[in-house]
Amino acid sequence: MPVPAAWRDYYLREWTAFILLRCVLVSAVFAWSGRTSPDVAATAEYAFYGSLIGLAIALVRLAAFRCPRCGRVYSVRLGAWPHGDRKPSSRHCLNCWLPKWADPRRVPGEVLDESDDW
Ligand SMILES: [Zn+2]
Repeated sequence: MPVPAAWRDYYLREWTAFILLRCVLVSAVFAWSGRTSPDVAATAEYAFYGSLIGLAIALVRLAAFRCPRCGRVYSVRLGAWPHGDRKPSSRHCLNCWLPKWADPRRVPGEVLDESDDW
């Protein structure tokens, strides 16, 4: 199933965070494992701090992603809970309950069947 165009930005933000997380972990191993030369360890330490800052920025950008249907922040909800007994989930917009990766042009009733709670 192809990803709707509105979700490509989210996909890019998610992968950026994953790649930077891997950079943080790999550079930490090179910096502090004690198995590399001091020059490599010093360079890896700089890479660690740089990728750590990049990861923090990427995570903030990922958390600030706006829902392609309602335009509000996808994973943050302020105010009363309008979805009855549904539990908050990272798989749905907390404002309009659009499932992740669903086509935002479809009406909410059409996507309701494919987004049953688990
Ligand atoms: Zn929404």
